[in-house]
Amino acid sequence: PPGFTEGIVEKTINGVTVNTYADRPKSVIETLQNSARLYQDKEALVAGAECITYGELNRRVNNMAYALRTRYDIKKGDRVAILLTNGIPFVISLYAVAQLGGICVPLNTRLKSSELEFMLNNSGSSLLVLDDSWWVNIEPIKSSIGACREFFVVGQEIAGTSSFAELIDSDAPEVVTEQIEEHDAALIMYTSGTTGLPKGAVNTNFNVIHTMISYKRIYDLTSDDRTVIAVPLFHVTGLYAQLLTYINLGCTIALLPMYKTDEMLRVLEEERITSMIVVPTIYVMMLMHPEHKNYDLANLRVAGFGGAPMSGETVKMLQEWLPGIELHNTYGLTEIASPGTCMPKEDAMRKLGSIGLPFPVNKCKIADPVTGEELPANTEGELLINSPNLTPGYWQNPEATTKAIIDGWLHTGDIAKIDEEGYVYIMDRIKDMINRGGEKIFCVEVEDVLYSNNKVMEAAVVGVPDEVFGEVVKACIVPRPGVTLTEEEVQDWVRERLAKYKVPKFVQFLTELPKNPNGKVMKNVLREATGN
Ligand code: AMP
Repeated sequence: PPGFTEGIVEKTINGVTVNTYADRPKSVIETLQNSARLYQDKEALVAGAECITYGELNRRVNNMAYALRTRYDIKKGDRVAILLTNGIPFVISLYAVAQLGGICVPLNTRLKSSELEFMLNNSGSSLLVLDDSWWVNIEPIKSSIGACREFFVVGQEIAGTSSFAELIDSDAPEVVTEQIEEHDAALIMYTSGTTGLPKGAVNTNFNVIHTMISYKRIYDLTSDDRTVIAVPLFHVTGLYAQLLTYINLGCTIALLPMYKTDEMLRVLEEERITSMIVVPTIYVMMLMHPEHKNYDLANLRVAGFGGAPMSGETVKMLQEWLPGIELHNTYGLTEIASPGTCMPKEDAMRKLGSIGLPFPVNKCKIADPVTGEELPANTEGELLINSPNLTPGYWQNPEATTKAIIDGWLHTGDIAKIDEEGYVYIMDRIKDMINRGGEKIFCVEVEDVLYSNNKVMEAAVVGVPDEVFGEVVKACIVPRPGVTLTEEEVQDWVRERLAKYKVPKFVQFLTELPKNPNGKVMKNVLREATGN
């Protein structure tokens, strides 16, 4: 498309050459401060009945940064974790940490105590900002997360914790400044990557600035755009593709604390939303809503979707519902701070099923997963990406970094092919993962929990198709001889130990698991086996 490569220059970082946008802000905090200067009185965030202007947002961010610096001595490089639902406190905390040159660690609010414990200890977070409702998951582990010295609670007062409101309401006597370099880490985003064990992908200021510009260019965004964030802010789609991108432009953003289809449709109409990116499941849910056609969505210009595949049927139904809308299938990963490839608006139907072309600064290629050799057009292999958005590595995990990033190319764990026009198609995946409406579930994590039940002799977890979520979890279990084990017992066992979205929807009991001659469980056979 015209202007696609305008203003792009090569840059070599630590021996690796990447494309960059020549004209760019240098830090996350600079983007908010610029918008606050230009759009002082404009609404920045709308969250239910609450709203806040850019000027006020910036003032509260500075109040919090001042309090964290003067009272808690938060310095450049310190980690501050946040366990918050979508809302204004999330945004204030994120930018306050950025203003200090700190590293923000957004945590998945759906996780259980032991899952959170690992991330808090691994990141060495010294402070945690959380909603009062998540304290139940933190209280049991508070003595085992040694580095965490203070908890700031949004909502009701809790003994032994501090008040978040007090942090942002005390007027700071001056603007806190910090010398932030482009390649300083800004965030750690926990992901299971390709192997299933949680790892913190470090995203630098440089990485996420490129994300902001990539989305602006491809979705053709301006300060007049209005968006709704309906996916969680602790994941790259909500946080980078939306929040950071739209704050950088000075747009108005509506935040949904929890996705509800009624609320989503109401906000799209009342807030005159012009562009958004959500997971395919949200479009499926809207299409299933009996009243969806009665809402006036005339302002909606761009509807991006990503995080998981969308069926061709859903794409066609969306086009019928919202004719003339730009539909962009967008593929991304946490390791590249979201943007990987995107479908140009002209090609949505011509290249149905494709994830589009690499974002302007990205390069994609296909390699043989065993030999690493680059493969020609239309040949399936592992998708590799080179990008200025690419993480410098996983937090304190050089071994995992070396496996995932080789000579500046990220090994995505997705099987894809690239056609002769450069369009990428996801065909399968190498990683043993289930994509439930964009939420990733690593089979090995659920399998480990199943094996910890002594009534289980063998267990394997697979994804099976689902109309709304794309895929859901199925557990295949061989019980120990002589014991009785029910579907409910299995589900309860997992529910007590892991986030709810990882609980198997189906449990199938077998007398043995199908295995290949090397003893490896044949998951393709289990996926196709009938009988839930
Ligand atoms: P995450 O790091 O949680 O964002 O997960 C990244 C993974 O989500 C990718 O490696 C893909 O397997 C999957 N994914 C992301 N976007 C898409 C898309 N548009 N179509 C199909 N799969 C996708």
